Amino acid sequence: MPRLEVPERLLLGPGPSPVSERVRQAMAQPLLGHMDPAFLAIVDRVQEQLRLVFGTTNPLTFPVSGTGSAGMEMSLLTLVEPGDVVVVVQQGVFGQRLADAAQRLGAEVVSISIPFGEICTVETLTETLHRHPRVRLVAVVKAETSTGVLQPLEGWAEAVHERGALLLVDTVTALGGLPVDVDAMGVDVAFSGTQKCLAAPPGLAPITVGERALERIRSRERQAPSWYFDLAAISQYLGQSRAYHHTAPVSMVYALAEALNMIMEEELDQVWARHRRVAEALWAGLEAMDLEMMVPRAHRLPTVATVRIPDGVDDKRVRQQLLEDYQIEIAGGLGPWAGKIWRIGVMGQGAKISHMMTLLNALGEVLHAEGSPVPSGLTALEKTYQKAGQR
Ligand SMILES: *Cc1c(COP(=O)(O)O)cnc(C)c1O
Repeated sequence: MPRLEVPERLLLGPGPSPVSERVRQAMAQPLLGHMDPAFLAIVDRVQEQLRLVFGTTNPLTFPVSGTGSAGMEMSLLTLVEPGDVVVVVQQGVFGQRLADAAQRLGAEVVSISIPFGEICTVETLTETLHRHPRVRLVAVVKAETSTGVLQPLEGWAEAVHERGALLLVDTVTALGGLPVDVDAMGVDVAFSGTQKCLAAPPGLAPITVGERALERIRSRERQAPSWYFDLAAISQYLGQSRAYHHTAPVSMVYALAEALNMIMEEELDQVWARHRRVAEALWAGLEAMDLEMMVPRAHRLPTVATVRIPDGVDDKRVRQQLLEDYQIEIAGGLGPWAGKIWRIGVMGQGAKISHMMTLLNALGEVLHAEGSPVPSGLTALEKTYQKAGQR
């Protein structure tokens, strides 16, 4: 049989993001047993570094086996019991997923429906909590990948904790790309994924669980309704006893470990600043190309840009040409924005000005070939990048 061969793409969609050579080589290191002290030392260091990116001192901070959605499942099924009132903010596709998953666990889901492209204000939250005093959990997405909105969480924990409820935050497209400040924000549980801003392949879901959430788990009336995602059992492997629960995805942990090493070497503040700076340059470039951003600047997510597809331009054909002729992947819209927008990721190793130049150049050429020429965005991109670097 011929060896597996994979085309080399520039991944500028909303995940997976590009993975460095260094991380790929880390994955190719020799396999260790999941009980080997050499492997457990790697797990320990990953836990420590994840605490830094999450902005927390929570001892129970680790990568769940599975993609970002596995982190969501574990969070919900350990926190929710049948009949619990769970308030879910639905301002995009990933908020809808949270609601769907909570419903399947027998929760009484109260939705706060927010139009695509907008945020949920703390006033709206407070008002909803007032109408549902039995609330046990509030779930919200910090960085809505489907809309490109950054949800502010100032004041949320106070409002939620006042009611005796817990705050669960999806930080999948935020972690590693911008501060999530779990402790400072009073977040009780946050989960993420490795293939967005952490710059590792998909396969692990970093999670952090605070003391209030641990108390809730200890006082559950019934066991969590999943064997594999039983947080209480898995924490035995992470703790002193090192009890076997399931085999850790060893090579994936190597990848995450090396991706985190790279983040620590560059320094977290610098990594966040790079995402911000490249994002601002991209926005300026897109606007110079007469392309309209979907989200007002104040709530715009630096890690995913959502841009309106010009009238008369064929969404799929443009993306297909970018992929086939330029080896660049971007994504289309989801839900009500399907066919209406493009989504461009500014994540991890993708968050580089050279990649954005490559993309805007290619997009300009494709739009020209499609009969919808636009001005070049390159000068605006570079100017804004320089200016942002001087701040
Ligand atoms: C990508 C994403 C997820 C799902 O993660 P998977 O790794 O695809 O399971 C969840 N929430 C948000 C906000 C995401 O962007």
